[in-house]
Amino acid sequence: MIYGLIGNSKEIIDNLPYFPILPKIDDTKKDVDQHMSFDYLGLSDELLSAIKDAGYSEPTPIQKKAIPGVLQGRDILGIAQTGTGKTAGFTFPMIDILAQGRARARMPRSLILEPTRELAAQVEESFIKYGKNSKLSCALLIGGTDFVGQVKKLDKGVDVLIATPGRLLDHMQRGNVMLSGVQILVVDEADRMLDMGFIPDIEKICKMLPKKIQSLFFSATMPSEVKKLTDSFLKDPREFEVSSPTQTAVTIEQHLVRFKGTDSIKRQVLRHLLKAENVTNAIIFCNRKKEVKIVNKSLQVHGFSASELHGDLHQSTRMEVLTAFKEGKTKILVASDVAARGLDIPDVGHVFNFDVPSNPEDYVHRIGRTGRAGKKGTSFTLSTQLDKKYLDGLLKFLAKEIPLYNVPNEALEDNKTQRQSSSEANNSASKHHQKTKNTSRHNSINKKLTKKQIHHDEKPIKKETSQDSNSLEKTLGMGGHMPDFLTR
Ligand code: AMP
Repeated sequence: MIYGLIGNSKEIIDNLPYFPILPKIDDTKKDVDQHMSFDYLGLSDELLSAIKDAGYSEPTPIQKKAIPGVLQGRDILGIAQTGTGKTAGFTFPMIDILAQGRARARMPRSLILEPTRELAAQVEESFIKYGKNSKLSCALLIGGTDFVGQVKKLDKGVDVLIATPGRLLDHMQRGNVMLSGVQILVVDEADRMLDMGFIPDIEKICKMLPKKIQSLFFSATMPSEVKKLTDSFLKDPREFEVSSPTQTAVTIEQHLVRFKGTDSIKRQVLRHLLKAENVTNAIIFCNRKKEVKIVNKSLQVHGFSASELHGDLHQSTRMEVLTAFKEGKTKILVASDVAARGLDIPDVGHVFNFDVPSNPEDYVHRIGRTGRAGKKGTSFTLSTQLDKKYLDGLLKFLAKEIPLYNVPNEALEDNKTQRQSSSEANNSASKHHQKTKNTSRHNSINKKLTKKQIHHDEKPIKKETSQDSNSLEKTLGMGGHMPDFLTR
């Protein structure tokens, strides 16, 4: 009896589902950015190497949600559209699960149903690309291609069968394929299947599958027919919803501020917006670390409660900065994309894009830091002639305009002109302001600003004392004082 068990044990073990031990993530100790890397999802080294070769540095939201669940053997119900990275969301874990075991003739080990030939072909390409370090065999059963060739492939045994419902039923009826060995089923684009009249075919196919099976359903929307299917078929599924990368939350009021000028003028416009708008707290995104540092210093010099978050900072400093911001001790966080990715900061009222992001998807991620969970949020994107290329790319990606926001002309005037006119007009008033509490702190921060940190196209901030900034505020009609809620 015991010998009998041992005799069969290899086969039993081969056919066991693959449950990797997922690494525990300690949020307090590890690097914020590392959390977001693929390394923490429980995928094999071979696959991680293929992912690296594909050029992906970070999992998309759907991948973060789907991959661990699939690896743990859970059923999945993912509400997601094409473009969210969902194909890799199921392809990656399937490659690792199927790496254990072997295929038998005409008995595929997994089945992926796609509504169209093109989608099916794309999924096959994904398995070839990401599965290059594993020896999985794939077959594509779609209309319009060689039927006999498909049978030959099935005869050899396939690990991954990708099919459109009609062609699969055709093969099933001829006895070319049996679904009794399928361990994982994927129904992709279920709502599109419904539109194309495939739901009865899917029901027929599902009846031929073994009872104990892991099922992954993906759909962009959840019409009642799809819901009925998933309710009857999925067992305690892990459900999640991700929005398309081009879909921005409706609760975010977006503004585009277009003007010509240097980075110094840009900072002036930023300060204007921070004061003129009812900003309680904000994240300001810059494209480069260097800019993050300059913008942060400049804001501090002008008396704002700001801090910076970028990759050059030590982990403990990053955590301190983040905690201070979360607790409301700092009102403004100037950040780079990489450093801010994956941060869950509730209740951010405003997001400012100091630059138009070079990658349009970052725009959605950036402004998505506000307007969360149905709350109202506002975003401002500053764009000068230097951002034109990125702005064109962004508007094309969004396929819609961002409403324009006009700042007063004074906010766009060169500092030097403003300094001259305002110092004449406010000579005596500025003397008084020089003695204010903030002055010594501003000056000490000013001293720390080296020439190296100043952009080539602007006057050094060093010369812009609190006297100047107070004068500037007067020129802009802001009464010469900082709103309390933005200062420390
Ligand atoms: P999909 O939603 O599956 O159609 O994927 C949309 C695009 O995203 C495809 O071109 C993929 O190659 C790409 N993609 C998938 N995962 C990632 C990732 N983690 N990082 C960057 N691009 C990705």
